[in-house]
Amino acid sequence: MSGNDTDPGTGPRRFASGEAEAHRLDAADPGHRHLFHVPPADGGRYPEAAYLAGNSLGLQPRATRTELLADLDAWRRLGVEGHLEADRPWLPYHELLTGPAARLVGARPTEVVVMNSLTVNLHLLMVSFYRPAGRRTRILIEDSAFPSDSYAVRSQARFHGLDPDTTVVRLTPRPGEDTLRTSDVTDFLAAEGDTVALVLLGGVNYLTGELMDIPTITAAGRAAGAVVGWDLAHAAGNVPLSLHDWDVDFAAWCSYKYLNSGPGALAAVFVHDRHLGDPTLPRFEGWWSTEAATRFEMPPVSRPPATVEAWQISNPPIFAMGPVRTSLELFDAVGMPALRERSRRLTGYLERLLDEVTASRPLTVVTPRDPDRRGCQLSVRLGAGSAADLTKRLRHEHGVVADAREPDVVRFAPVPLYSTYHDCWRVADALAATVTEERR
Ligand SMILES: *Cc1c(COP(=O)(O)O)cnc(C)c1O
Repeated sequence: MSGNDTDPGTGPRRFASGEAEAHRLDAADPGHRHLFHVPPADGGRYPEAAYLAGNSLGLQPRATRTELLADLDAWRRLGVEGHLEADRPWLPYHELLTGPAARLVGARPTEVVVMNSLTVNLHLLMVSFYRPAGRRTRILIEDSAFPSDSYAVRSQARFHGLDPDTTVVRLTPRPGEDTLRTSDVTDFLAAEGDTVALVLLGGVNYLTGELMDIPTITAAGRAAGAVVGWDLAHAAGNVPLSLHDWDVDFAAWCSYKYLNSGPGALAAVFVHDRHLGDPTLPRFEGWWSTEAATRFEMPPVSRPPATVEAWQISNPPIFAMGPVRTSLELFDAVGMPALRERSRRLTGYLERLLDEVTASRPLTVVTPRDPDRRGCQLSVRLGAGSAADLTKRLRHEHGVVADAREPDVVRFAPVPLYSTYHDCWRVADALAATVTEERR
């Protein structure tokens, strides 16, 4: 924290004067908020929340309801015929999502499919890509990995008869540092990579908001002979990705965070095309794993296509695909490059305001300061008090919706599609009013 010459008590007044600037910035750089429903906060006391929790659950696009109802209507009108005769026939429905999903993550259409949920997909991919043998058995994750990923890799180790405590390596930042350096990962791989079967990291860390150097770590992992997979839950729709060119082996992500497809929305996977059609890769199969052209000849033995669709198992839930399709079309129309630019402006603005607030308060921004090493999320660590209590007060007393990660981190994500500069200003103003200044 920098030194402070702030006169205690002037914080809120200074922020009051900054409000006009926030409105000016919004007029000049409006985003796409009009395409979304912005909920009220605190039971309607605030007609529009300052919604900074899009990293946890994205907002509902206005188009989603209409599109979802159209799919529901097709079922009402057509019954089973909808498989072939709906305006968007159900049998190939998932193919409508493939192009925009592939463009979003920098993949070829044969490399991406929308299916299942994130952790289920991680397991299905580990069936193929975590194959411990000889000395090479370990799985490298971050110590601050999302718990679901941690449980998933530990259960995979047990599934292979290995001790999860020795099989799963958890990388921690250096003493006194909040985030991993790229070299913390690559040095480990250079030293002990011959024992690592799988590297599975978060593209953007859910807790700190750190964007990892995906191409460098992927190259280091593959050079060490490991398979490299990425959990992109907090990266997809947040930062530009080039999974094919970066030579990533596999990746998985959910669609309910930055991809605004609704709670528990269908997830997606990427498998690099060098693995596609490889008959030696183990995979779990069902009738959606076989090629579509002969599926209904009901052959007793599958004929998997040489695409990532070979990883599909079941016929997909059409009503869950509608919201993902609607959202991906929106991303396709706006484009990640434009979103990334607006994201840098918005997050940079929030960072500047947070610097003013945190200078005199027991709060520290733990997200990397380099815009190339983060997405839109800024995480603040509390020096005192509980993160859950603070977010409750922000919501009830200021209509600011953020989320807490116990014990001491509050996450703020100004989402470039729908967040505003005024939302950012409300965050800073609310923190200034809620967190007592330290006297030094
Ligand atoms: C949100 C998130 C999950 C959630 O898993 P689900 O299977 O969708 O419930 C898993 N991993 C990471 C890194 C996440 O951020």
